[in-house]
Amino acid sequence: MTKAYDYDLFVIGAGSGGVRAARVSASHGAKVAIAEEYRIGGTCVIRGCVPKKLLVYGSHFAEELQDAAHYGWTVEKMSFDWNVLRDTVLEDVDRLNEAYTATLDNHGVERFLEKATITGPHGIKLASGKEITAKTILVATGAWPVVPEFPGSELCITSNEVFHLPALPKRVVIQGAGYIAMEFAGIFNALGCTVTVVNRSDAILRGYDESLRDRLLQITMARGIQYRFNCPIEKIEKAGGCYSVKLKGHDAFDADAVLIATGRRPNTAGLGLESAGIELGERGEIPVDENNRTSSPSIYAVGDVTDRVQLTPVAIREGQAFADSVFGDTPRTVDYTSIPSAVFSQPPLAGVGLTEGQARMKYGNIKVFSSDFRPMKNVFAERHERGLYKMIVDAVTDKILGLHMIGPEAPEILQAAAIAVKAGLTKADFDATVALHPSMAEELVLMR
Ligand code: NDP
Repeated sequence: MTKAYDYDLFVIGAGSGGVRAARVSASHGAKVAIAEEYRIGGTCVIRGCVPKKLLVYGSHFAEELQDAAHYGWTVEKMSFDWNVLRDTVLEDVDRLNEAYTATLDNHGVERFLEKATITGPHGIKLASGKEITAKTILVATGAWPVVPEFPGSELCITSNEVFHLPALPKRVVIQGAGYIAMEFAGIFNALGCTVTVVNRSDAILRGYDESLRDRLLQITMARGIQYRFNCPIEKIEKAGGCYSVKLKGHDAFDADAVLIATGRRPNTAGLGLESAGIELGERGEIPVDENNRTSSPSIYAVGDVTDRVQLTPVAIREGQAFADSVFGDTPRTVDYTSIPSAVFSQPPLAGVGLTEGQARMKYGNIKVFSSDFRPMKNVFAERHERGLYKMIVDAVTDKILGLHMIGPEAPEILQAAAIAVKAGLTKADFDATVALHPSMAEELVLMR
């Protein structure tokens, strides 16, 4: 280590990207410290992907229990207790928080559980007043929910609070129709709540393939989720024990909880980046080059704070690439092509590569193959929901440009298929693979 500094590396933010960067840099021999103002683990572990997925599992039992009768099972006195699910999920969050903390300790990373601000290219000040110097600083402070301004917006909750609800709300309004909105609409709907999704536009899940979005809309409407499009919330007022929600152009109606899920903005406010001459981008993001380096040569940034791709596995890759490049003598950059993603709606959808619309724009000459099928388990349970798989192929080279799926277990199936897309395989390669029967995944090699 350079004796002139207290640490080789000081990481601000102990989420997915920060923890990966800290522990890998330490294993490369760097003297590392990390500051976190909330809990070690970050959004994904503490109030995002992990607890959300557990709520998806928990709520999905409603469907399984309903279908079970068709398979001969009688479940008597079925009931659901939100407090049990919530508390068990939060206990698991505690367990993961401890596991992440132990990982840092095991790698000799020093932890400061307080806010840190940057005071210069090598300077950090902790909330307690302690001043620290580091040869390199990594900012990995993630993103924070955006709440549009309207009267009563302070009465709403975001994905930060939704995991802690004291009781299951009977009527939920969700503003936004992106990832978080569609995932929580599915959770609350399955748990028996009345769900209304309101969005400023007339679309859900912008960016996903249109056919899949249509299918999700149809299925979720049939399941009872209500949609109000082109009408953001105008105001919210307290009305006795609940809230009166007024949408633009609609009469007010009552709700017991209003969840705002209108995107997440980089968490850079009050970080002191200007002290190092770093100018923020339009959305408050930290601009970085392909090596995650900011305009200040000793300061780097990874993850949501850079507003590149707001996904946990991407932040982890960026943290790893940073550590290997700066401290491991093995420079690497992250390849942002063909990143698979999924929405854990009910049913879930998943995709990799270009949508049909994007491929048409970029390549013009494309072929679209699809399989629109009713999964065997749905047929047996008299559930009328159909799955849809769609493959977008370059008509000239036969190479797969995109693969999109909606249906039970779509994310689990897509992860494996994404390897083939990333590897540049063709439709003929898929066709040459014998189907694995009976499965839903076999539709991948049977598309016409
Ligand atoms: P999204 O960007 O997915 O969706 C935002 C939604 O809010 C859209 O429907 C958008 O409308 C609407 N919206 C945006 N700005 C405003 C505004 N100012 N006023 C009213 N409505 C607005 O954001 P989320 O909050 O759902 O999720 C944030 C990020 O977290 C995602 O982008 C994703 O990267 C990540 N995430 C990933 C998950 C996963 O991988 N499964 C799960 C959860 C989150 P429109 O687009 O129609 O204009």
